[in-house]
Formats: sequence, structure tokens, C-alpha cells
Amino acid sequence: MQLPRPILLVEDDVMLRATVVEHLAADGAFATREAGSVAEAEMLLSVEHARFDAILLDVGLPDADGRDFCARLRRGGCRIPIIMLTGSYTEADVVRGLDAGANDYVAKPFRPSELLARVRAQLRVFDNSEDAVFTIGPYQFRPSARLLVEPKRPRKLRLTDKETSILKFMYRAGGRPVSRKVLLNEVWGYSSAVSTHTLETHVYRLRQKIEVDPSNPRLLVMHHGGYSLALGAA
Ligand code: CA
Repeated sequence: MQLPRPILLVEDDVMLRATVVEHLAADGAFATREAGSVAEAEMLLSVEHARFDAILLDVGLPDADGRDFCARLRRGGCRIPIIMLTGSYTEADVVRGLDAGANDYVAKPFRPSELLARVRAQLRVFDNSEDAVFTIGPYQFRPSARLLVEPKRPRKLRLTDKETSILKFMYRAGGRPVSRKVLLNEVWGYSSAVSTHTLETHVYRLRQKIEVDPSNPRLLVMHHGGYSLALGAA
């Protein structure tokens, strides 16, 4: 099981908010934080180490226009998917929302299942993009930069191509054990003549970098015939 992905929902309609939260929580894939205004959203975003994988943003908020807030977040360097929720649905509104940097636009009333599908679609695109960041134990993993950032220390760990590929595949496995053979094929390709010894060497070096005590690994854990990644470990 992968950890629930944190979503920020900014919406002043309390009933709608409750419905969306309920649907996002239904299969355990998402954990939603709620804000009823731009001010509340800013508060949640400014908390140290705050991390959201996507933002659902109402256009008509009591203290600001959601599109202006979206534009401000983008100017501030926020790259995660933002999906606008709106009551008005004219072409001009859509264009303004997308101009503000929104990834998608859902008109009210919408079926929660449709919103959920849009969120999943945007996250799929984002996860494969240059901007993707994943949490692994105390680290923020940035595959495109081949970097592990540990905000609490704070420090940055540089990874090799292979180490990045290993972590990426282990992360996608969502904590389930992966056999050496599967990992070898995923990282080096089916046609390569690389042995499991090479894989073990890379895992050894990776552990030297990421584990507090490499002789007693807590993140990249040995499993019968393979490894698993402890996503939630501190
Ligand atoms: Ca509203």
C-alpha cells in the first residue's frame, strides 16, 4: 500500500467540501486538508515541511479570486497540479483559469467521481514530469534532479542514475517487496547481462548514502529474495 497522497482543497462551500473530502478519502489513496479561504490555504501551505501533491481550488472564494491565488502560487514556484473548481463555465473563464496556471478546470455541479478521475490524471502526468517530488522516509526524492533532500538536517544527497532508477521503481512498488530479478530487469533492462551482484553493489552504496545505520537498514529493507522500501519510516 502506498501512503495516502496529501491534497489541499480550497472551497468555501462547506457541503461541497465535505462531499469532495469523502470521495477523495474513499479508497485510501488521498488525504485531504481543507481551507475555506485563500488566507486559510496560505496558512496550511506556509507550515514548515508542508507538502501537497495537488490543489483543488474554487474560483469564487470569500477573500480572493481563486485564479489570482493560482497565478500567485505559480509565481512563487509552486509546480504541483492545480485544478480549478468553478460555478461559471464560459470559454472566457476557462481561458482565464488556464492562463493563471491551472492544469485543469472542473465546472460545478460536477460528479465527485469525475473530479477524482481528473485528479488522478493530473497526478499521473505530474509524477512523470521534471517537477515530481516523492517522500521517502525523512527525504524528499526528486528523480529528475537525481536528488534526495532532507529538510530537517538540512542536506542534499546526490544519486547516480542507477540509484535514482532503483528508488523510483521501489517507490512505485508502494512498499511491496520486489525480487532482485525484477529490480534488475527494471533498472538495467531485460537484455542486459548484468548480474545480481551488480545490483547488490548499487544497493549497498545507496544504503551508505540514505540509511542512518547502513548495517541495519530501515528504508531499503532486505526481503526474501529482494527488497522493499519503507515509505513511512522516519
Ligand atoms: Ca465559492
